Amino acid sequence: MWKNVGYYNGEIGALEEMKVPMNDRALYFGDGIYEATCAANRIPFAIEDHLDRMYNSLRLLEIPFKMERDQVKAELQKALDAAEDSPVHFLYWQVTRGVAPRNHIFPGDEVEPVLMAFVKPHTMKSMAKPYKLISMEDIRFKLCNIKTLNLIPSVLANQRAVEAGCDEAVLHRGSRVTECAHSNISILKDGVLHTAPTDELILPGITRKHLLALAKEHGIPTVEEPFSMVELMNADEAIVTSSSALCMRVESIDHIPVGGKDPQRIQMLQDAYLEKFNRETAK
Ligand code: PLP
Repeated sequence: MWKNVGYYNGEIGALEEMKVPMNDRALYFGDGIYEATCAANRIPFAIEDHLDRMYNSLRLLEIPFKMERDQVKAELQKALDAAEDSPVHFLYWQVTRGVAPRNHIFPGDEVEPVLMAFVKPHTMKSMAKPYKLISMEDIRFKLCNIKTLNLIPSVLANQRAVEAGCDEAVLHRGSRVTECAHSNISILKDGVLHTAPTDELILPGITRKHLLALAKEHGIPTVEEPFSMVELMNADEAIVTSSSALCMRVESIDHIPVGGKDPQRIQMLQDAYLEKFNRETAK
């Protein structure tokens, strides 16, 4: 058992001691895709949704990963089972195009994609503590629907947010709000949940998808259309969603107060989300 577990193509050990081959294409090109979710009782939350998106990302990047879904689940479970106890674990995994001498062109069929993963203890943020955001122009490329390893614009955006004493950066293309550096964003306005459509400008977040379903279940109408920065600033509530923090209320953007006008609905959604997480990861 290790506190932080590393997994590389079947090999398991302490994360800090694992080494990857220098020719892994992830190192030179970010040539791979990833997934992440939380686990409680060593049960990864919403694993089927994450595997659906993983296989879709692989298809879109033409990575010929042959491992079947059940085998992937079994490999990830090995990493989870090798972790020391924790109320919640963070489970991350990625598939790269494989190990081959650096060359932009895809390697030959003899090169197998690589599965790597890590597990570490995780503390879920309290949904009672709202997020502060900064806003930034979205400078990412147009493959945002694929969960690729190329995250430099998101890294820079998140760094700027933390330097400004904030939690996340909300990104926009002109006036259109896309998403955050590593989360999706939705708004409540006049009792309706609005969120951006799943085109190539946003990642189809699993938490976003669940939030939409929970809203419908609780009689909240939903609209999947682009909304603007002005609409975001004037929203009754703004909600940031991600697998690692679930549904966070937003209290300010660029240090200007935002939301706070529909506390009941947002609380209902947060409670419903937590209930779903606890139910689906119960022993
Ligand atoms: N958008 C981006 C750019 C992300 O990186 C993430 C999560 O990593 C999300 C949205 C949220 O997705 P999910 O709810 O599946 O964690």
